[in-house]
Amino acid sequence: MQVSAENLNNDPIQIALQQAYENSLSQTGGALADYIPELARVDPERFGLALATAKGRLYTVGDVDIPFTIQSVSKAFSYCLALELVGAQEVRSRVGVEPSGDAFNAIEFDPVTRRPFNPMVNAGAITVAGVLRDVYGAQAFEKVLEKFSLAANRPLDLDESVYRSEAETGHRNRAIAHLLRASGALAEPVEDAVDLYFRLCSIRVTARDLAVMAATLANMGENPFTGTEVFDLRAVRDTLAVMFSCGMYDYSGNWICDVGIPAKSGVGGGLIGVVNRQLGLGAFSPRLDEKGNSVRGVNALQWLSNELGLHTFECTNSGSSFVEQLLA
Ligand code: GLN
Repeated sequence: MQVSAENLNNDPIQIALQQAYENSLSQTGGALADYIPELARVDPERFGLALATAKGRLYTVGDVDIPFTIQSVSKAFSYCLALELVGAQEVRSRVGVEPSGDAFNAIEFDPVTRRPFNPMVNAGAITVAGVLRDVYGAQAFEKVLEKFSLAANRPLDLDESVYRSEAETGHRNRAIAHLLRASGALAEPVEDAVDLYFRLCSIRVTARDLAVMAATLANMGENPFTGTEVFDLRAVRDTLAVMFSCGMYDYSGNWICDVGIPAKSGVGGGLIGVVNRQLGLGAFSPRLDEKGNSVRGVNALQWLSNELGLHTFECTNSGSSFVEQLLA
């Protein structure tokens, strides 16, 4: 286990992070995603955990500098960007905010509106990619990548080979996009929307990057390490709300109860957690459970939530100081 130089070994947060790491290391259940060869070739033993505070301190343990593809973790940030660019009303007219209770790649839509249930499943994220493509045009990927890089405080790039495989084999996602186009949720050409979606899934990040990106959301859209305003305040609020109820796919209900923080996972093994105004968590471990969530990542975040009292409804969280005064 390597502990990076930025850490103070006697710091209670560092100690908690190391304990979460050690407690999760033995969890060797689950399996690598294997729908494309690149993901099936990843070293299954890799495991990294990072915590970045809203005041700009970073704690790390394990493989926090190993690159992997962001996959569905991108959905949270793309949604945030779409909200900012065209407004919540327009986005909501095309993508709902209801948990689907079904798998991330389910071919299903809200029976009443015929819109995707939410932006954290593929159907919703493909629609969001359509919105971004519409606003930014042919330069959409570069523009979004720039934003993600500002959030990560590092120039991120595309894993070309994952992108090619996603694009070559993504027939199910294309089928979803065609149905969205038929129902009117997707206004843009199918190929434009799915191409951007595949690229966004194929952005290379590390666990350290994810923690900084999550801390940017925790810090109301401002990167706490650079002071750069990356995301709009109101868009962050709405994004965290949807991450809270839908970020862990059909495990979201259990997650809210047991961990209680907005989160988003991806089939590359990445996972973020956001503790509003406090900190961002980034985890990487590529073995996935049957829902498509990182086994060790889920375990580690649950452990940290319990240990550090991060659950939104933790009894020790006293809430708004303004309301507290009224109750006094
Ligand atoms: N590229 C994957 C897909 O579209 C992303 C899904 C995920 O990370 N859950 O199926």
